[in-house]
Amino acid sequence: MATDYYTVLGVGRDASQDQIKKAFRRLARELHPDVNPDPKTQERFKEINAAYEVLSDPQKKQVYDLGGDPLSQAGGGGGGAGGFGAGFGNFSDIMDAFFGASAQRGPRSRTRRGQDAMIRLDIELDEAAFGTTKEIQVDTAIVCTTCTGEGAAPGTSAQTCDMCRGRGEVSQVTRSFLGQVMTSRPCPQCQGFGTVVPTPCPECAGDGRIRSRRTLTVKIPAGVDNGTRIQLAGEGEVGPGGGPAGDLYVEIHEQAHPVFQRRGDDLHCTVTIPMTAAALGTKCPLETLDGVEEIDVRPGTQSGQSIPLHQRGVTHLRGNGRGDLIVHVEVQTPSKLDPEQEELLRRLAKLRGEERPTGQFQPGQQGLFSRLKDAFNGR
Ligand SMILES: [Zn+2]
Ligand SMILES: [Zn+2]
Repeated sequence: MATDYYTVLGVGRDASQDQIKKAFRRLARELHPDVNPDPKTQERFKEINAAYEVLSDPQKKQVYDLGGDPLSQAGGGGGGAGGFGAGFGNFSDIMDAFFGASAQRGPRSRTRRGQDAMIRLDIELDEAAFGTTKEIQVDTAIVCTTCTGEGAAPGTSAQTCDMCRGRGEVSQVTRSFLGQVMTSRPCPQCQGFGTVVPTPCPECAGDGRIRSRRTLTVKIPAGVDNGTRIQLAGEGEVGPGGGPAGDLYVEIHEQAHPVFQRRGDDLHCTVTIPMTAAALGTKCPLETLDGVEEIDVRPGTQSGQSIPLHQRGVTHLRGNGRGDLIVHVEVQTPSKLDPEQEELLRRLAKLRGEERPTGQFQPGQQGLFSRLKDAFNGR
C-alpha cells in the first residue's frame, strides 16, 4: 500500500496550500536531521519531504489525488513512496488528456527573490586609508511582520483558485481548419499564482513585505577607493511573498581632502619652503595621516622636487603594504625685502657672479613644467 501523503503531514484531504505548508514547516522543524539525528526520525523526515513535494505542487497534487504517485513516476526521489505505475501508463499523458500539453508548466510562485539595493556612503580619506566601521541607515523592503510574508490577513490563508484549480492557467479548446486547438493563458482570477488571497494582509496589502528603515553596521576595508562597492549579501530588498532578499551594495564616495590628493594608493601634497631653507637644507615637520613626520629637505633642493615618504599612503586593498606620500616642494622667492635684506642678497649675488644671469634652457625632460605634467599623468 502506498504511503498516504495526507496522513504523513497530518492534514485532511481538503487541506489548503497554506495548511499543508504550515503542517510541513512544523514537522520539518521537529524532525530535521540537525535537530534529531536518529535514523527512524530521518526516515520520517524523508517521508514528510516527499509528501510536501507532492502536495505543495498543485500539479503533482492533482496527479496524486487522481490515484497516481508523481514521485515514483519521476524516477524516485521520495522516501517510502510506493509506486502506482503499472498498467496505468504515463501520468503526464493523463495530465495532457485532461488539460493539454501545457499542463507541465504549473502555477508561478508568489515568492520571488528581492532586488539588489545600492546606497552611497561618503567617507573621509583617512577612513579609506585605514578602514573603518560605519553605521548606515537603509530603507528597504523587509518581510511583513503581520503576515510573515504570506500576504494573507492573520487568521486567513490563501485558497486554491477555483477558476484554474490551482494550475495558474486556463485552457481553451477552439476549432480551426486544423482541427481542435488547445490554447492556454495565465488564469485571470489568480494572475497565474494558482491561489487567491481572499483577505489580504492589511499591513502589506498582500505583498508580504513592508518598507522599513534599519541601521546596519558596515565594515569598510582599508584601501577602498571612489566607486568601490561593498557587497552585503542578503541585505537588499526582500522579495514578494516572503522571498529571499537581494544584496545591498554600499558604494564608496571618498571626500576630497584639503591637503592630500590621492592617485591610486599614493598621496600627493605640496609644501612651500623659503628660498633660504631650500638652499641651506632643513628639517620640516609635516602633518601626515599617521601624525607629524619630519621631512628632510636636502641643501640645494629645487622647486618642483619631490620627497617620498614610503608607506605613508593608502593601504593596498589587496596585498600587503601601503602606497607612498609624495611631498612636492615649492620654493618661495621672497617678494618683499627690507633694505638690509636686499643689501645682503645683492652681496650674495655678486659673490656668486649672478648679477647678470642669462636664461638657460633645461633639457626637455627635467624642467619643472615636465615634472608637473608627469604628476598630472600620475607618474
Ligand atoms: Zn502582511
Ligand atoms: Zn486561477
